Amino acid sequence: MFPVSRSRRPSRSRPSRSRPSRSRPSRSRASRSRPSHDGFAVRALGALLLSAALAGLGCGGGDAAPPVDEGEPTHQSFDRGVLCTPERLLRPETVEEVQAAVRWAAERNLRVKAVSSAASHSENAIICADEGAIQLSLVAMDAIVGIDEEAMQITVEPAAQMGAIGDALHEAGLGVRNTIPLRDLTAAGAIATGAHHTSLRFPSGVHDMVVGLSLVDGRGELQRLEGEEARGAAAHLGRLGVVVAVTFQAEPQFKTRHAITSGSDEGLEDRILAMAREHDYASFSWWPGEGRWVLRQHDIVPADTPGEAYSVGWVSTAGDQRLQAALAHRANRDPEGEGTLCDVQALRAEATELVHEEAGEPVEGQAVGFSHRMFSSTCEGLACPWEHLKIFNPEVAIPVEELPRWMRRVREIVAARPACFPLNGLVIRFSAASESWLGMNAGQDVAYVELHVVRHPDEGAFEHFADVHDELHQMSLLEFEARPHWGKNYGATFLGLDYPALYPEWERFEALRARLDPDGRFENAFFRRALGLEPAPRPPGCAVERDCFCRDDADCGPGLVCRPGAVVEAARVCRPE
Ligand SMILES: Cc1cc2nc3c(=O)[nH]c(=O)nc-3n(C[C@H](O)[C@H](O)[C@H](O)COP(=O)(O)OP(=O)(O)OC[C@H]3O[C@@H](n4cnc5c(N)ncnc54)[C@H](O)[C@@H]3O)c2cc1C
Repeated sequence: MFPVSRSRRPSRSRPSRSRPSRSRPSRSRASRSRPSHDGFAVRALGALLLSAALAGLGCGGGDAAPPVDEGEPTHQSFDRGVLCTPERLLRPETVEEVQAAVRWAAERNLRVKAVSSAASHSENAIICADEGAIQLSLVAMDAIVGIDEEAMQITVEPAAQMGAIGDALHEAGLGVRNTIPLRDLTAAGAIATGAHHTSLRFPSGVHDMVVGLSLVDGRGELQRLEGEEARGAAAHLGRLGVVVAVTFQAEPQFKTRHAITSGSDEGLEDRILAMAREHDYASFSWWPGEGRWVLRQHDIVPADTPGEAYSVGWVSTAGDQRLQAALAHRANRDPEGEGTLCDVQALRAEATELVHEEAGEPVEGQAVGFSHRMFSSTCEGLACPWEHLKIFNPEVAIPVEELPRWMRRVREIVAARPACFPLNGLVIRFSAASESWLGMNAGQDVAYVELHVVRHPDEGAFEHFADVHDELHQMSLLEFEARPHWGKNYGATFLGLDYPALYPEWERFEALRARLDPDGRFENAFFRRALGLEPAPRPPGCAVERDCFCRDDADCGPGLVCRPGAVVEAARVCRPE
C-alpha cells in the first residue's frame, strides 16, 4: 500500500462574464460543519480498502441546505468558448457532501451536473448544468487515494489530474499507457468523454484503464462498479451519477523513444495503417493539397534505456502558435486571405518543432524518457495557445479499415474545392477496440480523424474554407458511421445521430443509467437535444457558431447561402452568394 497525500495547485484565475448578483444562502468554508466521517480518513485509505470504506460511509445531508454555495454561479470551458449559467454552483469537498448535495437537489426536483476541472477542457455544452439546475464543482476532491502496488492499481478522487497521477505512479515504479498531451485533465472528466491517446496495439482511451468506479447515484446513494461493468461504463458521459473515485490499472513504469518523421503523401492511404502498426503510439498530421505528412511516434523501450527527456510541447511551441494565430486572424479578416493561410500551412507541413527537453536543453532527433513525462506537459497564461487562438475541433472515430477510403474522399473534396489546413493539418490517431460501451473505440479498432479549424476572430463571421471544413466533417458523419468525440465537437455534430446504431452496447449503458438515475437527475440540454428529446434552437446564423448545419440561407446569416457540398451532395454548407 502506498498512501499519497493530497496535492494542491494554485488555480488559474480566469475572467468571468459578470452576471447580476443574486442573494442566496451561503456558508463560509470555515463555519461549514464537517461530516462525521472525515474526508481525510477516506483519502488516506488504500485502494484495497476503498470498496469497503465507501460501502460503510454515512448518509449525511437529509434535508439540509447544500454543503457549500459560494461564488458566482458560472462554469466555463478552458477557452471561455462555453459558459454555463446554472442556478447554483456547489463545491463539495467530500463524498458525504456530494451525497448531501444530490439529495438536496432531488428533494427539490432539480437537475445536477458535475465537473471536476476548474475550467473544463471539453468544448461543448456537455459540461453544463441547465439554467435553473445545480452545477457541482468537485475541484477540491483531487487526492490520490492510494496505490496498490501488488495489483498495480491506483485509486484517485475525481479531480486528480492526469499529470499528478503519472507522478504518483512513477514514485511507485509504475506508469499508465494512455494519457493526454495536457497534464491538467482530470480523472473523472477524461474518462467521461472517452479521451484518448493513440495506438493500434492496444485500446488507447484513458477510460480503457479503468477497473473500478465509485459514484453517487440519483438518489444520493454510493455505488461501486467493478469488473466488466466498470470497464463498460467507464466512458460515463457524466450521465451515470457523480463520480467520486476512479481506480486505474497501471503497469511497470516504462520509457518511450519519441521521433518525428515526414514525407510526401503520394499513396499515403495505402500504407498509413501499416505505418501506424509499426509503432506503439502513432499520430499523423496530413496536409492534402500540400502533399505532406508528419508522423509523431513513440515506442516503448526498457526503463533502463539511457535518457531523461520530458515533454515541453505546450511551451516550446508557444511562440510559433502565437505567430500563426496572428497571421490566421489577419488572413480571416482579409477577403483575399486564403493565400496567407496556405503559406502558413506550407511552413507547418515542414514541422520540425522540438517538443522535448533533457536537463533544460532541447532534444534534437530522438528523445527517450519516462512515460509520464514524455507524453504530456502543461502551460500557463500566454503560453497556452487558446489564450490567443480560438479553434473549432471536430473529431470523430471511424472504423480503422475505412481510413483509406476516408482519405480518398478527402482528396476528392480538396481537389474540387482547394483548401488549406494551416494549424496542424488533418490529425489522424488510432485505438484498438475497447471494452467500454460508449467510448468512441467501443468494440472496434478505430481511426480518430480531426480538424483543427482556426475560427474567425470576429463574432458571427465565417473563417476562410468554412465550406470545406463543414463538408469534410459532414462527410465523415454521413458516409462513415462516425462516432463524434463527446468532448470536442461543436453542438451541430450531435444532432440527429442514431446512437443505438453507432454503439452496439448503447442499450446496456441506458439500462445502467436507468438503474442509477431513474429520474434523469444528471441529464442536461446537451443530451436532451442529442437524443432528440428536445428541439435544438435554430436562431438565424446558427451555422456560423456551428450550433446547426444549415438547411436554408437564414441559417448562414447575411451574405451567405446554404448549398450542397462540392462533392458530398447530402452535405449542407454555407457559401458566399
Ligand atoms: C489542450 C487540450 C488537449 C486535448 N487533447 C486531447 C487528446 O489528445 N485526446 C482526447 O481524446 N481529448 C483531448 N482533449 C479533450 C479532453 O480530453 C476531454 O474533453 C476531457 O473530457 C476533458 O477533461 P476535463 O477533466 O476537463 O473534464 P470536463 O471537460 O470538465 O468534463 C467532461 C465531462 O465529464 C463530466 N464530469 C466531470 N467530472 C465528473 C464527475 N466527478 N462526475 C460525473 N461527471 C463528471 C462533465 O460533466 C462532462 O460531461 C483535449 C482538450 C484540450 C483543452
